[in-house]
Amino acid sequence: MYDLKQHFLDRLGTHIDALHSAQKAFLSGSDDAVESIRRIAHSLKGSGGTYGFPSVTELAQSVEEAPAEELESALRALLDHLISLRTSSRGDKSVILIVEDSPEDQAILQAIFPESDYRVYVAGTAAEAQEILTRHSIHIILLDLILPDSDGRNLLVKFRESPQTVHTPVIILSAKDSPQTKTECFALGANEYFVKPVDAEVLATAVRAKLDQAQKIKSELRIDALTELPNRAALQEEFLRYKAQSQRHETPLSLAMLDLDHFKQVNDTYGHLIGDQVLQYFSRHLVRSLRKSDFVARWGGEEFVALLHNSTPEGGQGALEKLARRLKEKPFQSTGDAAVTIPITFSAGITEVTATKSINDAISDADELLYLGKHSGRDQILTRKSDIKERPRSILVAEDDELTADFILHRLKKSGYEITHYANGAEALKSAQSNTFDLIILDVKMPGMDGFEVLRNLRKDSRNNSVPIIMLTSMGRENDIVKGLDWGANDYMLKPFSATELLARIHRLLK
Ligand code: GH3
Ligand code: MG
Ligand code: MG
Ligand code: MG
Repeated sequence: MYDLKQHFLDRLGTHIDALHSAQKAFLSGSDDAVESIRRIAHSLKGSGGTYGFPSVTELAQSVEEAPAEELESALRALLDHLISLRTSSRGDKSVILIVEDSPEDQAILQAIFPESDYRVYVAGTAAEAQEILTRHSIHIILLDLILPDSDGRNLLVKFRESPQTVHTPVIILSAKDSPQTKTECFALGANEYFVKPVDAEVLATAVRAKLDQAQKIKSELRIDALTELPNRAALQEEFLRYKAQSQRHETPLSLAMLDLDHFKQVNDTYGHLIGDQVLQYFSRHLVRSLRKSDFVARWGGEEFVALLHNSTPEGGQGALEKLARRLKEKPFQSTGDAAVTIPITFSAGITEVTATKSINDAISDADELLYLGKHSGRDQILTRKSDIKERPRSILVAEDDELTADFILHRLKKSGYEITHYANGAEALKSAQSNTFDLIILDVKMPGMDGFEVLRNLRKDSRNNSVPIIMLTSMGRENDIVKGLDWGANDYMLKPFSATELLARIHRLLK
């Protein structure tokens, strides 16, 4: 019975996170958010039925069908239900620490928070409380002020100083009813103050509310604000869950690390705002290209990590290759006055997560493959089994003299290079500004724009400021050599030159 129900409960966190972030987007007026809320609700409606949670199906259906003006409240109801379902699900009970020395009060509190719904620890002294905290992770603390070995206020100060409990909700339960004590407790970081004798129902509700709030904050801390994907912290938790599941069901699990190619150039050329939109665009396509049971996180910057459920690295490779093709068919297009089209490619490494691999091991394996991909020409998805195929190096040749151009093109193509040729300087420059070449060969005298001018513009352009450039200089114009090198050329060839010499220089510069 685990199996179905627990599976659903295990995945609940992801749904809650997704709904929270959609809710946030919805509240800030995003139109997309409505669709994504209805989509998540639709999927919950289905899985609620499959996994035996009719209440989820019912609430999800009312979100899916809610008229616009009721969407927000329907969503809230669904979220509240999911959160309480998660908190009360077995193994995921909220953990309460009661710090109270009076046996009668201990008994009252234990009756309010039964073991069937909560995991409860009871400490009769401040020392015991601190000892319990070293061994257990506690979700909420109920604190009496008068303890045999310490004033509860001193203990409260200690809670707020310790990283482990700095954000843990603390509810004070005290016989003291003085405004001064209350004020002091709030100043020291208490979240609530109840005067004994407490009303059972009010206290139970307050605890529930504090726990839900803490849960909400926690899930918001797990979402990356730009892409709305789970962040690194969320991935770390999810990794353990995915790994446990893969072991239990003996299904393969893979981890993919992705990094956008030449992303810095996007920022440099179009600005950070467009860069941000490209990241959002990429995130959406990445999520869409993987299965619902996979988990995608923004690792940082332009790097993403995916956990691929029930998938070998080779299986994952297929999915990511589809994504790469899709991005080539549908490059990013900005909206607005000056619409730009930006092709996106990425490199990725995929590794299998075996029982002994920690998240750091898996990331570092995937990263190593990713690094290999970057160094063999980018735009590649590698697994351990991939034969790393060297992408042919691409060379831009700007040369208007037909004979020289034919000679260069013929020899370079024969040696396996991919050649793009222009007989006009301005056209060559334009092409270099929107494509990535591994090397550029520039003639000096050309129609459109002379080679020096092309060179000067290339060196100002972030895409080309470090690409190797060879200038072709005519015999008798040796001054051009100095000028070319001064302006940032890496090498020169004096016409006429031999093919062997040109190839040797290209080879050296591309190393
Ligand atoms: P490579 O193909 O080798 O990966 O080159 P690259 O330019 O993609 O890699 P590099 O690591 O040099 O640059 C990554 C850039 O990503 C630098 C940084 O400014 C940019 N970046 C990181 N986070 C963000 C973000 O949130 N928004 C934007 N617009 N840019 C970001
Ligand atoms: Mg990077
Ligand atoms: Mg990059
Ligand atoms: Mg010429």
